[in-house]
Amino acid sequence: MNVKLLDSSKEKMELRIGESSPAYVNALRRYMAFEVPTMAIEDVEFRSNNSILYDEMVGHRLGLVPLKTDLKSYNLKNECKCKGAGCAQCELKLTLKGSGPKMIYSSDLKSKDPKIKPVYPQIPIVKLLDGQDIAFEAIAVLGTGKEHAKWSPGLIYYRHVPTVKINKQPANSEEVVSRCPRNCFEVKAKKLSVKDNDACILCNDCVEFTNGDIEVGTANDFFMTVESWGQLSPSDIMIKGVEVFNAQLTDFKKLLADVKE
Ligand SMILES: [Zn+2]
Repeated sequence: MNVKLLDSSKEKMELRIGESSPAYVNALRRYMAFEVPTMAIEDVEFRSNNSILYDEMVGHRLGLVPLKTDLKSYNLKNECKCKGAGCAQCELKLTLKGSGPKMIYSSDLKSKDPKIKPVYPQIPIVKLLDGQDIAFEAIAVLGTGKEHAKWSPGLIYYRHVPTVKINKQPANSEEVVSRCPRNCFEVKAKKLSVKDNDACILCNDCVEFTNGDIEVGTANDFFMTVESWGQLSPSDIMIKGVEVFNAQLTDFKKLLADVKE
């Protein structure tokens, strides 16, 4: 196997994973999307709310606000020293108080920990009219995407690296070039050639159109993309996903040692 970094930014990272298998790359994807913990609001206690949205609706919206996550300072509740009772290492309190007329945004949430705050300050929570007010205390905890999508760290997907091969020069090369939706081909000196192999999306139009003069297939290489919702950086999502995978395999190895006679 080999891994090459193709693109990296604050929100997105793209890798090329060579000589692997769909099963392996998909396992990585599932660990990143569903086993990497992030922080999200789980409990809300309302002091007052006479806005147009009832308490449950506001609570649901609050749960979906991505919070910047610090995995070094917080534990999953069931793995915490407090044994799930709730302490400063596994719970974070956020409060909000506002009265109308105004729009309440995610930036109005006051966090007890300045490091853990909404990633995007402009998420609307509820619009208050004149005379309406809202006040609550919310508890954010670490959780994983397998329990609820609000704890998912991002969108992770992969696709096969395509292989486009020209077996025989087709009669209508120019039309092959113009038909391809991804601009994979070019004609130079009346000869059709593959200009951009990696852009191919396996639509197979060129194969059908040329009656098999062009062959499209897949290699055992993959493009993997991690798009973060903002709680963690894309590289943190990848590293943590692999760490959780590793820890579960280590646990399994220990269990296997116990069952051996
Ligand atoms: Zn705790």
